[in-house]
Amino acid sequence: MSTLTITQASCADDYDPNSMPVAKARDFIHRFLTPVQGTLRVPVRSALGRVLAEDILSPVDVPSHRNSAMDGWAMRGADLAADRESTLEEIGVSFAGKPFGGRVAAGQCVRIMTGGVVPEGADTVVMQERAKAQAKKVTFAAGQKTGQNVRQAGEDLKRGSVALRRGRMVRPAELGLIASLGIGEVAVYRPLRVAFFSTGDELKGVGTPLGEGEIYDSNRYTIHGMLTRLGCEVLDMGVVRDDPEALERAFAEAAASADVVITSGGVSVGEADFVKGMLGKLGEVVFWKIAMKPGRPLAYGKIGGAHFFGLPGNPVSVMVTFYQFVRDALLVLMGANPVEPVPTFTATCTGRLKKAPGRTEFQRGVLTRGPDGRLTVRPTGEQGSGILKSMSDANCFIILGDDTGNVEPGTLVEVQLLEGVV
Ligand code: AMP
Ligand code: MG
Repeated sequence: MSTLTITQASCADDYDPNSMPVAKARDFIHRFLTPVQGTLRVPVRSALGRVLAEDILSPVDVPSHRNSAMDGWAMRGADLAADRESTLEEIGVSFAGKPFGGRVAAGQCVRIMTGGVVPEGADTVVMQERAKAQAKKVTFAAGQKTGQNVRQAGEDLKRGSVALRRGRMVRPAELGLIASLGIGEVAVYRPLRVAFFSTGDELKGVGTPLGEGEIYDSNRYTIHGMLTRLGCEVLDMGVVRDDPEALERAFAEAAASADVVITSGGVSVGEADFVKGMLGKLGEVVFWKIAMKPGRPLAYGKIGGAHFFGLPGNPVSVMVTFYQFVRDALLVLMGANPVEPVPTFTATCTGRLKKAPGRTEFQRGVLTRGPDGRLTVRPTGEQGSGILKSMSDANCFIILGDDTGNVEPGTLVEVQLLEGVV
């Protein structure tokens, strides 16, 4: 799709930019995303939150040796009678890191601790709770099975096999897994550079008094937070006035210094026309009215080599459109593969929800497990797109699809957790 331009695609597609379904906008954006090219080698710990740029092959068998899964004794399974107790002679010990050097013969056993090497000759471990030791004579309960409680060498990972694929986001489990292979450095994709600025004559920065009609710029703070959580390198370009020259300069500078440019405000009806004209000069951008609430106006395109997301101005709309469109796109650009959409599940809604059919709504809710064990979700009060508290109080979105109308208490609704999304 690399030869397809955004304007060609938008003309070819039979959609109405004034009522763009959420899924269609998402698919459209994904046609233009290719991961960043640069990679770097970093010490394992520094790979946390980065995306692997190479397959990690296991240089060793994991576990490297046959070992015990339990504290107990190791013996030949054939020495244990199925239907009565069996008594064997203890000839030594095998602790984790201190193997027993000898061989276990018929009638013998070796005291063994979890992780200890299962000695030659032995093939079975009986846990200590099923045994009674008297000096060197150990009696084992009936009903043991040959091979039990023994972890085979290479059981978790065979030498040479792929432990982690390129495209995997490194989380704490991956850090540990890589270290368990004895690998100290890995190749990761370079961080994605994202420049962002807020637009609006009414916006003031924190720490300055507000004049009449002015408000504090909060979008740069939520955007900073979401980008940082995703592992992006952020370039905060401040507030830009609703002034064509200042905006043109800001867009050009942002696109020249970053992989992605994100703005808030200025894409709604009225403001869009003048931004449209300017972006038409600088690059290729499509402006949509998404069939969703909040977050109706949205722009996407390329300015030079940079991807551009023009988010709405309203603070809740910014977060919703970021979660629903920008997050997955940034993950793809960061090299993550596959990018899993944030899962949704169902919960019983405890409140009445006002909802108009014909658009997808992302209301904010609090998900809890009721005393009967069922998941329930209650809306966080006023749902206006400017009310950031509705996001802050929430731990999930209540996603009401295009066809849904008003929701009565007791109805099953689709929910999507906010934590872990960024
Ligand atoms: P706009 O899309 O520029 O028309 O903005 C829509 C609404 O969001 C207006 O009420 C703006 O004042 C408000 N808004 C825009 N940008 C920000 C921002 N950075 N922080 C807080 N509110 C904003
Ligand atoms: Mg504005």
